[in-house]
Amino acid sequence: MIARSAELGELLSREEGKPLVEGKGEIYRAGQFFTYYAAEVLRQNGDTADSVRAGIEVDVRREAMGTVAIISPWNFPTATASWKIAPALAFGNAVIWKPANLTPASAVALSEIISRQDIPEGLFNLVMGSGASIGQALAESSQVDAISFTGSYDVGRQIATAAAKNLTKFQLELGSKNPLVIMDDADMDVAVAAATAGAYGSTGQKCTASSRLVVHEKVHDEFVDRMSKSTSALKVGHALEEGTQIGPAVSEQQLKSNLDYMDLARKEGCEVVCGGDALELKTPGYYMQPALLTGGDNAMRLNREELFAPMACVIKVVSYDEALKVANDTEFGLVSGIITRSLARASHFRRNAEAGCVMVNLPTAGTDYHVPFGGRKNSSFGPREQGQYAKELYTQVKTSYILAGNP
Ligand code: NAD
Repeated sequence: MIARSAELGELLSREEGKPLVEGKGEIYRAGQFFTYYAAEVLRQNGDTADSVRAGIEVDVRREAMGTVAIISPWNFPTATASWKIAPALAFGNAVIWKPANLTPASAVALSEIISRQDIPEGLFNLVMGSGASIGQALAESSQVDAISFTGSYDVGRQIATAAAKNLTKFQLELGSKNPLVIMDDADMDVAVAAATAGAYGSTGQKCTASSRLVVHEKVHDEFVDRMSKSTSALKVGHALEEGTQIGPAVSEQQLKSNLDYMDLARKEGCEVVCGGDALELKTPGYYMQPALLTGGDNAMRLNREELFAPMACVIKVVSYDEALKVANDTEFGLVSGIITRSLARASHFRRNAEAGCVMVNLPTAGTDYHVPFGGRKNSSFGPREQGQYAKELYTQVKTSYILAGNP
């Protein structure tokens, strides 16, 4: 995958609409999950102990779960699937993968690579079809030993209900409503760069997108002014065109949802500083100019629901305490970010943000592959993904007691 990231990245960009540089980057990253877990299998897993009873030894080790169902979304179709498939196989499981319907070509491309590897026939299986039929059938099957799902909150709840009926182990990575706090002592270059990348990267279609910009009143006007210039300068275009920074929305339905949220923003009393309109370009597509909104209030529906759109809303606050309160006032909890020069504030925020991941002076989006990833509240359920933590879902612990007897 790493060697073919240009070719497969182009396929992914054509299919999903993300700019070519992001498509190639995703394939490369997906390859890194396989190289990481190829090495992870060599790590010493397991413990030994002496029993409290004389002559008995205890051996604690991890075994594969068995058959794992993997259900993945369209927005990072190859990376998300890879950070599930690679550890599932590495820890000795059989895999049934149900990819999203909007991105079948990249699923076939990844499966074709896996099909050429030296693994037993039937260990890895790709099944395509609708979520409501194939996905639901997997979630309901008593022959599935574990389920890893990334997708929307509503579907996640359905999977949880189905899995609970069979007591099947499962893990959910769902939506979010990530805040990026900009404090009065922030480096404005860092703040604008982080907010622009976090809010509009991948057309805002990522679970780590910064959709709430929580800004201290002392730097509010300067931030909005600079952010407006930075947002307006983004080049929206065809995924494969040189220089494109923001691709189209993934589907007609997604674009309609984005524009409906723009109407809601106006109705709820936000001011549209820039963007927010559908764009007609020379090639057909569901294009939209990234939008910056001000006058936001954290109680607005706009600031409570996941948009999955290139839209960010500024919420003005008067203090650090209020900023932290607003940041945490959400049903979700995937990523929370702060831009500040104060070590004391950064440390306090890191400890008190109610999120699975915290970013200090960085965009909310952009994570490594060798450390745990996941959220709190309605953003996640079950064990963390990625890094060594992945073994919590893909293995089960066995404790053996051994009485050796006399030599
Ligand atoms: P989705 O929930 O519509 O679909 C996800 C997958 O579930 C697809 O493969 C779909 O076919 C399948 N599915 C649909 N109904 C099903 C059912 N009843 N039973 C079983 N499977 C079913 O999500 P999406 O639109 O593909 O992706 C966008 C969502 O994914 C957003 O909410 C986003 O936040 C979330 N997401 C989360 C993370 C994360 O790590 N937290 C990462 C990426 C995307």
